[in-house]
Amino acid sequence: MDPASPSPAPWRRLADAAGLIDERGRLSSTIFEEMSFLAARHGAINLGQGFPDTDGPEILREALAEAVAGGGNQYATIAGDPDLRRGVAEAEERAGRRRPDPETEVTVTAGATEALAAAMLAHLRPGDEVVFFEPFYDLYPAVAALAGAAVRTVPLRPPHFRPDPEDLAAAFTERTRMVVVNDPHNPTGTVLGEETARRVVQLAAAHDALILTDSVYEHLHYDADPVDLAGLPGAAERTIRVSAASKTFSVTGWRVGWAIAPQPLTRALRVTKGYLSHSAAAPLQAAVARALAWAEQGSFYPELHERYRRQRDVLLEGLSATRLEVCAPEGTFFAVARVGRDAPEWAGTGAQLAQALPERAGVAVVPLSAFATQANAHLYADWVRFAFCKRPEVLREATRRIAAAGL
Ligand code: GLN
Repeated sequence: MDPASPSPAPWRRLADAAGLIDERGRLSSTIFEEMSFLAARHGAINLGQGFPDTDGPEILREALAEAVAGGGNQYATIAGDPDLRRGVAEAEERAGRRRPDPETEVTVTAGATEALAAAMLAHLRPGDEVVFFEPFYDLYPAVAALAGAAVRTVPLRPPHFRPDPEDLAAAFTERTRMVVVNDPHNPTGTVLGEETARRVVQLAAAHDALILTDSVYEHLHYDADPVDLAGLPGAAERTIRVSAASKTFSVTGWRVGWAIAPQPLTRALRVTKGYLSHSAAAPLQAAVARALAWAEQGSFYPELHERYRRQRDVLLEGLSATRLEVCAPEGTFFAVARVGRDAPEWAGTGAQLAQALPERAGVAVVPLSAFATQANAHLYADWVRFAFCKRPEVLREATRRIAAAGL
């Protein structure tokens, strides 16, 4: 950095907040890219970055081909494809949530990433505070830093990764402008539950803060249902719900997401996102609209659920034969495990283990400390995250390799 410059450039603030600047001031890539790189270099099974190893339903590719061939190749509107917005509204209603008005309350974005970024950039002022559960997805502190907002975190403490009500209450101050709730929760697989949901809404209402839900794992839950935060008293007018096609339809590369919010919040979000991507890719939006309508008709959701439950169980069973201690996830396609249950000499080595594992065992994972603030990284130093969005035979082979490597 230029020593004469008064403050770091925004991108540096962002990179620093996301943990991408090392002790020597050098810029690194994200933990997901780093682990995918190591996996590729060592030919390892990649259970690090969370992306499925199978394609989503055929209807997506058919509908995309038709959209492209049928002239759907020019800009979508900033708000997004009307069929997709209608489809999102209908899916909300069928899921038992309030049906948003597709014209004024649903916005299609370039993945949940853009929806989350637009929501934060639209509403966070320099000096505001934003509350996250920790460990957290790296996007949240990065965009908060870009907006100039300060982060307060509520640690989900191992081994059960439940928030302490006192920590939650203490995170809210007179400066709190927003609380971000990722439920089901990446990376821990926790489903936050009714009690926490009610507390979050009460605190947000008492501090007149917005609630931003990152609900991209909404269809992936096994032992508990995520609560509809916007449906709780006092929440509807302050909640922006974000979700995406990526996880539900196994198309993480398509970058089609959406934000659902009351009209005044939607207006602010659309103005902001209009100057980020303008609009997500038009034919992909059309294809996701078709897939959403199709999914409602048949057995897609129950099958999705069963497939992921099975994959989770294959991973858990495989890991039970290793020296890692796994915390059974209630949702998402991630499971976290403690290194060295029977090997105290490994205490605190999650980050080193994640670095070594691709070469040593032929498996890539992500260290949980990568999702933490410096102050709390020690809480997660024993833990690594496994992604189980992979075929059962791949998960079996990965856990066999881990056991064979003596872990
Ligand atoms: N959301 C996915 C994960 O947590 C992918 C993240 C990414 O590559 N940015 O693994």
